Amino acid sequence: MKKPLKGIMLSQDLLDQILEYAKGMYPKEIMLLARGDRVGSYLYIDEVLSPPLQHNGSDFASINIFYTPFTPSIIGTIHSHPSGALMPSLQDLLSYMGRIMGIAAYPFEGKHDFAFFDRQGNVIPYYIGNKETAKNS
Ligand SMILES: [Zn+2]
Repeated sequence: MKKPLKGIMLSQDLLDQILEYAKGMYPKEIMLLARGDRVGSYLYIDEVLSPPLQHNGSDFASINIFYTPFTPSIIGTIHSHPSGALMPSLQDLLSYMGRIMGIAAYPFEGKHDFAFFDRQGNVIPYYIGNKETAKNS
């Protein structure tokens, strides 16, 4: 029997990468695809990828990941909010793709500037750890 999902997990390195990328692109918005799979009781994010069509000024809806080299291992999207708002906009929810949506908010300093949301806009808890941590959970 499958254990109930406790949330999302990713490594500290990957979180740092995402935050540094968002910081480097500020005040532009970044858009990434999250690749991963279920490991133990978590959705584990292995890596993030740049979508082939990256529109600067980023109209979220203009990126259709289903027309990109799409694999089932793409579990969702991650983008940044240069405004600092750590919550999805209405547009974000209308153009929701995949199972999870990560948002990095200005000033991109640490874990408290990053969150995941489900299709309804509810926070999905996430944890920092490596794959072994997730496996043994
Ligand atoms: Zn957004």
